[in-house]
Amino acid sequence: MLRYHIWTIGCQMNRAESRRIAGYLQSAGGQPATHLSDADLVVLNTCVVRQSAENKVLGTLGLLRGLKSKRSDLRVLVTGCFVGSDDDLAGRFPEVDFSFRPGDYEGFVAWCKRQGMSLERASLQRAASPCAFVPIIQGCDNFCSYCVVPYRRGREVSRPVEDVVCEVQGMARQGIREVTLLGQNVDSYGHDLPGHPDLADLLTELNRIDELARIRFLTNHPKAISLKLIDTVACSDRVCEHIELPVQSGDDDILKAMGRGYTVERYIELVNTIRRRIPEVSLSTDIIVGFPGETDEQFGHTYSLIESLRFDVVHVAAYSPRPDTEAAREYRDDVPQAIKKERLARIEALQAGIASDINARLQGRPVEILVEGQKKGKWFGRTRSDKLVFFAARGDWAGRLAEIRIGRTSPWSLGGEVSDK
Ligand code: SAH
Ligand code: SF4
Repeated sequence: MLRYHIWTIGCQMNRAESRRIAGYLQSAGGQPATHLSDADLVVLNTCVVRQSAENKVLGTLGLLRGLKSKRSDLRVLVTGCFVGSDDDLAGRFPEVDFSFRPGDYEGFVAWCKRQGMSLERASLQRAASPCAFVPIIQGCDNFCSYCVVPYRRGREVSRPVEDVVCEVQGMARQGIREVTLLGQNVDSYGHDLPGHPDLADLLTELNRIDELARIRFLTNHPKAISLKLIDTVACSDRVCEHIELPVQSGDDDILKAMGRGYTVERYIELVNTIRRRIPEVSLSTDIIVGFPGETDEQFGHTYSLIESLRFDVVHVAAYSPRPDTEAAREYRDDVPQAIKKERLARIEALQAGIASDINARLQGRPVEILVEGQKKGKWFGRTRSDKLVFFAARGDWAGRLAEIRIGRTSPWSLGGEVSDK
């Protein structure tokens, strides 16, 4: 029996791809091994969006080099954004037997065949969680100046509407209640398909699947999000009122140097439109601090934007120069590490206060959650607005929609009890 271990870091896309790889390996009789060291086959699904992620990959490869010196039958595969376009990883890292670009399942299956394994596309046995991720568009055409993703994942390629609808119908029949549609840029979906269907058209189709309770999608690009999409979210009952809309900076000159294609004013207008048309919408954003040349004043603009727009969630990262990117070629990484750290901490502290106030408004109110599973003896799930809620109750709640009355709030999660209405 083949024992495999899939090591995954990075975005939701990587998580979705790892599940698909696991499905293939189980179709050949493979069984998951809890630890790297118990496996015959290790797949590293990697991220290099920042140097810190790349360092984790290099560390794990080092660990595998050690393991392999003791067990020469161990097989090591690498996928994800560590794999470049015409990269001979196996040549550079002797511990690697084979690498394949993210989403290149054909290459992966062909390699396994050469090893005597016969794989089929298979979805996993009914997963413990009622939530699934569904990639709908691969790659990115934007080339933001700091970002390595387009170099590693290639140009945008959308999956046909029928393909996605068919897959989601199958998932719904197996008990999946919530799907999250994934892409680096979901709102560019469909521009490369015949007839140019868009994300709004796809959401409208999926909204017809009765067994499904919820549909989400991420990540949006502020430059590409359309009024049609906003209105579709507003009027489709299964599509959740939650939008991820990375702004990256609150300063026009920095946004320009980042190559984001919008101004702060345009972004604020967009947020106002979304809030007008989708009542109760929750919004998340991403921020990069310490982009080359970012002055205290420019950082101040980002700080004020976060203060005034009051997002539900802010993901903040310190700028990290990435190979091949325009920013790494053209600009010096001149903001000292200590200042980057301080700016990052200031945004985090500001956001903790804002999220604390926003969540406190839910105190005493009933919210509907989809129960995903149990952690430390408590059930947990998310609201339609993507807030994490814990509750204690007897019985099996997995996969059920529950109404919870909120009794405790914090910036990061909520707690409550099943409401008896
Ligand atoms: N497609 C999405 C996000 C892709 S990468 C978008 O357009 O926003 C995920 C997040 O990583 C980005 O939103 C950005 O905040 C961060 N990121 C990307 N490259 C980075 C870099 N070189 N340094 C620091 N953070 C980076
Ligand atoms: Fe990277 Fe920009 Fe594409 Fe997002 S939109 S993946 S940040 S290049």
